[in-house]
Amino acid sequence: MKIHEYQAKEILRKYHVVTPKGVPCFSVNEAVQAAQQLGGDVWVVKAQIYAGGRGKGGGVKVAKSLDEVRQHASEILNMHLVTHQTGPEGQMVHRLFIEQGIQIEKEFYVGMVVDRSHQRVCLMASSEGGMEIEKVATETPEKIYKVLIDPIEGLSQQQAEQVAQKIGIPKQSLPGAVTLLQGLYQAFDETDSSLVEINPLALTSEQQVMALDAKMNFDENALFRHPEIVELRDLDEEDPVEIEASKHELSYIPLDGNIGCLVNGAGLAMATMDIIKLYGGNPANFLDVGGGATADKVTEAFKLMLRNPNLQGILVNIFGGIMKCDVIAQGLVAAARDVHLAVPLVVRLEGTNVDLGKKILADSGLKIISADNMADAAQKAVQAAN
Ligand code: ADP
Ligand code: MG
Repeated sequence: MKIHEYQAKEILRKYHVVTPKGVPCFSVNEAVQAAQQLGGDVWVVKAQIYAGGRGKGGGVKVAKSLDEVRQHASEILNMHLVTHQTGPEGQMVHRLFIEQGIQIEKEFYVGMVVDRSHQRVCLMASSEGGMEIEKVATETPEKIYKVLIDPIEGLSQQQAEQVAQKIGIPKQSLPGAVTLLQGLYQAFDETDSSLVEINPLALTSEQQVMALDAKMNFDENALFRHPEIVELRDLDEEDPVEIEASKHELSYIPLDGNIGCLVNGAGLAMATMDIIKLYGGNPANFLDVGGGATADKVTEAFKLMLRNPNLQGILVNIFGGIMKCDVIAQGLVAAARDVHLAVPLVVRLEGTNVDLGKKILADSGLKIISADNMADAAQKAVQAAN
């Protein structure tokens, strides 16, 4: 789960991470009032969307007067902000964050992620702040320092200091950097984050180390422990189809092809998309109905796929292991009737009670194209969709 920059900063401040003062706003008037309230004579007007690269896309602007605050706020609010992370359609800006303008001497990068291969949290830091870290990682990987953090000991003072030194934080600012890095790790650990990123971490003209941007993602499997974080979820920022899917505990990701996939198990779903591609087709979505899908769930899954105007065929690929094929077949028939399915439907069933399942499909009177194996199913789906 993602949250906005201003919310991440609010959390991080509780862990002694220094940030500029700022106020979230929902209107232009609020933005001007926020700037007045913050005082000073330089402000930054920042679009709040769940994507980075806002600066380059025109979603972060410096204002040197209240009039400029008003002007930038009215330009940014309700704009379709396009960044390298939003895709070409962009993301509508519904919220702003008005922050004190900070005099930056140098920008650094700091991030933490769960490193699955080492089973530890990995702290990454670089002198190349403000840039796209992916670019630094491919072009100059030697400029990213990595430290694996021991889950029992946490990030030690010595480790934090070493990292800060390596990326070039000046000596007098090291204590501040250590406090910030240790706070960042504590926040990561206690909130069950999957990613925390500060880009840029700024060294100010007063030699203070400060987080100018903040991104936090959370492990959804641990959200039950953090109701206060769940409350921060902004549904405006999420794809309505994915929100609907998560209500029914379906994993659904829309894609740009025309063959809808309904599969049980994430691995089988990936393999199904691969084999559709292999036979020259394009999947319209990833959809995993899970191990214990009921007829209701299958119906909801059909409804989700049918929202896609590009849909020209559906491939159902189910392995009846825990679930029996006859139960799935009944669910499929009920769902197809319920949604008045008008696109070709190819079904490949395998596993427990497969013969009974196939008979139910054949006797249903619905136009269902039955397939014997995955290759057969994929070829039939590609053909039917064309
Ligand atoms: P994004 O990563 O989405 O582009 P950032 O929050 O990193 O957004 O802002 C982009 C750039 O704007 C930063 O690299 C920094 O140079 C500048 N910036 C952001 N916040 C402030 C601030 N409060 N004061 C001064 N400059 C800022
Ligand atoms: Mg940034």
